[in-house]
Amino acid sequence: MFKIGCHLSSSKGYLAMGKEAVKIGANTFQFFTRNPRGGAAKPINEADMAAYAEFAKENEMGTILAHAPYVLNPAAAKEDLREFAFEVMKDDFHRLSFLPGSMYNFHPGSHVKQGVDVGIELIVDHINRVQEFNVNTTLLLETMAGKGSEVGRNFEELQTIIEKVERKDMLGVCLDTCHVYDGGYDIVNDLDGVLKEFNETIGIERLKAIHLNDSMNPFASHKDRHQKIGEGSIGIEAMERIINHPMLKELPFYLETPNDIEGYAKEIAWLKSLYQG
Ligand code: FE
Ligand code: FE
Ligand code: ZN
Repeated sequence: MFKIGCHLSSSKGYLAMGKEAVKIGANTFQFFTRNPRGGAAKPINEADMAAYAEFAKENEMGTILAHAPYVLNPAAAKEDLREFAFEVMKDDFHRLSFLPGSMYNFHPGSHVKQGVDVGIELIVDHINRVQEFNVNTTLLLETMAGKGSEVGRNFEELQTIIEKVERKDMLGVCLDTCHVYDGGYDIVNDLDGVLKEFNETIGIERLKAIHLNDSMNPFASHKDRHQKIGEGSIGIEAMERIINHPMLKELPFYLETPNDIEGYAKEIAWLKSLYQG
């Protein structure tokens, strides 16, 4: 079954997101756990989460994906910024324990002139601490475009992190198509080669989710600007190959394209028409 959804606003709660997803033809979705710039989260609403769980069962919803605020930097040079990242993710992780089977995606961090090795050590330490607070939510490292000093700019950096994490069984990778293409992995002309490299470096079984985005910028630009499906440098033919690739087609796909809800509904319908079940 094609598992496809998009990023939704979490302001009205889980049940509201579930209903909105179904309305636009999605069977999963992604959401920010709180303001993406890192503000306070709303109180835990267990009734809403339970109502969503019921709705999800009735509507055969797939795994939903929480996204950490993107301002968090577990690899920051300043300790107070690292502690902020830890406190936020610890709190989010605790919240997600009320939604069993969900996943939590985050940007590994930026090493800000400390060097990638120091950055990786800080990220590993962060993950090991955060994972103590929840044993049933899979944590996903997102593949990054490599702008600035982002860690996770290539598969090797992600694997170096994974190797050092204690709870590897609850750790995975979310591949963002815009990020990897901007990062220099040619998923347009050599998807097989890129996936082979992922498999040999990280192991394809670690891949748990796809962020499906076109890119505003050319190959290997290290920019990270998402574009609507089919309107960027990746293009619709490559997207069709991605959603139908035997190594990818059973994974959940989440759109993070610059769209309003009608735009997402159109992209979902288009991708569904291209998916070979
Ligand atoms: Fe992201
Ligand atoms: Fe992404
Ligand atoms: Zn991005």
